[in-house]
Amino acid sequence: MNIVILGGPGSGKGTICEKLVGDFDYRLICAGDLLRNEKSSGSKLGNQIAEIIDAGNLVPDKIITTLMFHEFQKPIKLGKSYLIDGYPRTEKQAISLDGMINVPIVLWLEVSDETTIKRNLKRGLVSGRPDDANEEIIRQRLENYKKSSLPIKKYYEKQIVEIDGEGTPEEVYKRVIDTLFEDVKELKDIADIL
Ligand code: ADP
Repeated sequence: MNIVILGGPGSGKGTICEKLVGDFDYRLICAGDLLRNEKSSGSKLGNQIAEIIDAGNLVPDKIITTLMFHEFQKPIKLGKSYLIDGYPRTEKQAISLDGMINVPIVLWLEVSDETTIKRNLKRGLVSGRPDDANEEIIRQRLENYKKSSLPIKKYYEKQIVEIDGEGTPEEVYKRVIDTLFEDVKELKDIADIL
């Protein structure tokens, strides 16, 4: 089953994806990594992207959707599912994704603003990411998240599973696994009745 993981900056999407890929046979596509790879390629597009993401803003829908589309063109083993980190972040992207794959589950990691700032500043000490370097840019990312991404919750009303993202990675991962298996069990129960 394809899974999309969303949540604010530093909500732990990457950490949870890493654990899921370690335990299950998912094909991971991380929107932030796609953009950072393009950035470090030094291409003209990469330079445009760098300016936008380093300032804490969202890249235009068309750019990230094109990069995602290319990923979905790559061959995937039969029966393998996608795990998608950080896409869609706008309603327009959500509509595009629906045209590319089916999205039965959206995990939404919830953390407080305070945790967001703290985690990103801490990550900035080791990540070398310019967008983690100072509080002003982190706040800008948080603002963009609230303005552009939070409204997608309504779009995903039927698929959304909200997870408390506070605590250690192990605690959050346990919540994710418990919720996922509960959900799968529920779907199976319904299928058995039908
Ligand atoms: P975080 O979720 O902590 O902000 P990511 O690595 O997921 O970190 O994303 C880093 C940056 O890449 C974002 O701040 C944004 O500038 C850009 N980005 C990632 N995904 C998208 C997307 N779906 N649409 C537009 N911009 C994106």
